[in-house]
Amino acid sequence: MPVYEYECAACGHRFELVVGFAEHDRLHDQRPPCPECSSHETHQLISSFHCKVASGDASDY
Ligand SMILES: [Zn+2]
Repeated sequence: MPVYEYECAACGHRFELVVGFAEHDRLHDQRPPCPECSSHETHQLISSFHCKVASGDASDY
């Protein structure tokens, strides 16, 4: 099972989430709440599992 790392924009807490692929599809629409402050202002960090973001900017190395 892939592990995804998230960071909370509200309190800066980082947490990991183990999700199946079906679950991950759903997370595109509904972000997981922060376990520390329950905020939904969370975003997924780039992990080794996802190597590229479709932003057109590949110079961030
Ligand atoms: Zn938080």
